[in-house]
Amino acid sequence: MKITFLGTGTSQGIPIIGSTHPVCLSNNKKDKRLRVSVLVEWDEFTYVVDCGPDFRYQMLRAGCTKVDGVLYTHEHSDHTSGLDDIRPFYFKQGDISIYAHKRVLKSLKIRFDYIFTTKNKYPGAPSVITNRIKNKPFILNNLEVIPVNGKHDTLQVFGFKFKDFAYLTDMKTVKEKEIEKIKNVKVLVVNALRIEPHQSHFNLEEALQFINKVKPEKAYLTHISHMLGFHDDVEKLLPKNVFLAYDGLQITI
Ligand SMILES: [Zn+2]
Repeated sequence: MKITFLGTGTSQGIPIIGSTHPVCLSNNKKDKRLRVSVLVEWDEFTYVVDCGPDFRYQMLRAGCTKVDGVLYTHEHSDHTSGLDDIRPFYFKQGDISIYAHKRVLKSLKIRFDYIFTTKNKYPGAPSVITNRIKNKPFILNNLEVIPVNGKHDTLQVFGFKFKDFAYLTDMKTVKEKEIEKIKNVKVLVVNALRIEPHQSHFNLEEALQFINKVKPEKAYLTHISHMLGFHDDVEKLLPKNVFLAYDGLQITI
C-alpha cells in the first residue's frame, strides 16, 4: 500500500493569504501546506480521502491519472469544496464513487446540486455514485475499510483504517471503543493543529497522548497550522516514532 500526503495544512493552508507570520514566509518546502488530503493506493486501486479546494493542483502534483473513489471525513469546506474538479476523471472513467456519512452526502447535494441533479443536467457537469458510510466496515474493491468515529467539537467525523494504515483528521474526541479499532496499527496519521489548545482539533499534546493510546509503530501528524511552528523545529521535539507529515511525503506500508 502506498500513501501520498497531498496536503497537510489546516483549513486556510500555509501560507495564509497575506500573512506575514514567519512560518508563512518560510522558504522551506516542508512549511508549505495545502489543505489536508491523502492518496491511498494498493494493487491497481487509487482512492483519495477528502477533496478540498486544492484538489486539482494536488492531482497534478501527484501525477494522478485515475481515481476509483473519494472518501469523505466530514463536510467542512477544506475537505469537500474541490468536488467539481473530479471532472477530468469523470470524463475518462464515468461516474465517480463517493463515500460519506449520510449527513455529508446531504450537504454535498445542497452545495453541488448541479452534480446530483437528474433534470436538465448541464453536459459538462460530473456525476457521482453515492455510497453511504455507517460506522461499520465496508469494502473497497478487495479491501475492507473500517470507519473510526470521532468528534470535531460537536460534529461527527469519520477516520478510516485501511489494513495497517489509519487516517484520522479533524478529531478532538475519540471514544475508547473506537480507539480499540486502530490499536497497534503500523502507521497512524492524526491531526495536530498547534501548540495551544483548540475547541475542535487536537493540539500537539493531545495528539501525542492519542498516539500513546493507539501505540502505532509510526505516527505522522497532519492538519497543521502555521501556529505549530517551523517543520524542522517541531520535528526535533517529537518522540522518535512520531513525525510531522509534509506535502508530497510518500510512505509504503
Ligand atoms: Zn479540516
